Amino acid sequence: MIDELLNPWIRSLVPYSSARSEFSGKADILLDANESWIGGNDGINRYPDPLARELRKEMERVMGIPYSMSAIGNGSDEVIDLLIRMFCAPGKDCVMIERPTYGTYSVFARTSNVGVIDIPLTSDLNLDEDAIVSAIMEKRPKIVFICSPNNPTGRVYPLSTIRRIAEVNSGITAVDEAYCDFAEHYESAVSAIENNPRIVVLRTFSKAYGKAGARLGVLVSSPEIQQVFMKVKPPYNVSRPAEAAGLEALHDCSVRKRVQETIERREAFSSFLRTLPYVRTVFPSEANFVLFRVDSAARLYDYLISRGIVVRNRSSDPMLENTIRVTIGSEKEMEALKEAMNGWRG
Ligand code: PMP
Repeated sequence: MIDELLNPWIRSLVPYSSARSEFSGKADILLDANESWIGGNDGINRYPDPLARELRKEMERVMGIPYSMSAIGNGSDEVIDLLIRMFCAPGKDCVMIERPTYGTYSVFARTSNVGVIDIPLTSDLNLDEDAIVSAIMEKRPKIVFICSPNNPTGRVYPLSTIRRIAEVNSGITAVDEAYCDFAEHYESAVSAIENNPRIVVLRTFSKAYGKAGARLGVLVSSPEIQQVFMKVKPPYNVSRPAEAAGLEALHDCSVRKRVQETIERREAFSSFLRTLPYVRTVFPSEANFVLFRVDSAARLYDYLISRGIVVRNRSSDPMLENTIRVTIGSEKEMEALKEAMNGWRG
């Protein structure tokens, strides 16, 4: 079934066989990969494991993601790009997104000359299920991207809705769960893959796990899709320091505590925003950021910049005129932001 969805040239692709994938046992002398013999104790002169096996084994233990269902990308951005290249024929196929949402789905699609169908969210920033279903029937997208919690709105979509969309969709439904750790009582779409192998889930080490600089994105999918992903990904896309950073994050007992702190700070900041006379709407968020509407986002943005604080002006997104998105930072950073916002007269 998945086979039929793949681009024909991907189906027949003979993958590059790297030295490190041909021999992965233990040996004293490795003269197979044209690496340098000059090296320290950290093994950085050696190529990394193309399959990131250690990290994936730990992910199974700590996150409960089965080893046979995980693959690692150079950030989830690479996973998004490769999914499009696996399933979408340039100049012919299209993907579907629900705007406003994370920007790279459409940029990677357009980079591959793949069309983008935009379905606007409802006025209360929810998925417009009827519009999505009828557009799927009419346009037959190869991939439907659903971001939950959505960036930049912070909104979680019910798993039942995602399942229904994925059932109607004969292509891939890619659920981006980058911010799921910050949502309370989150129901992950990973549980839906078994019954519907056209569902894939994206996770990342960049948010709750605090490793954005390492570039570690996760594709959770049926083993069938995972095997194709392994064929198309660059052989050494996850560096040794990145894999080590991922392992460190999985073993770090303070991650849960930091996520909880972030959630509490998000709620406190949202309440603070509601007390400000120039804030019009605070959108409820289940991510590590808050989106809110003010009288003039451009002027507030410039004012905060003048105070050395950088936030994101999301006003150019459809339906988000005069909105600002603030990432929840440390207590000190949020205090500085609050002080600056208290001093602003709108
Ligand atoms: N998905 C979403 C929804 C995001 O907001 C981001 C980054 N802001 C990413 C994916 C990219 O994550 P990564 O750092 O793993 O490439």
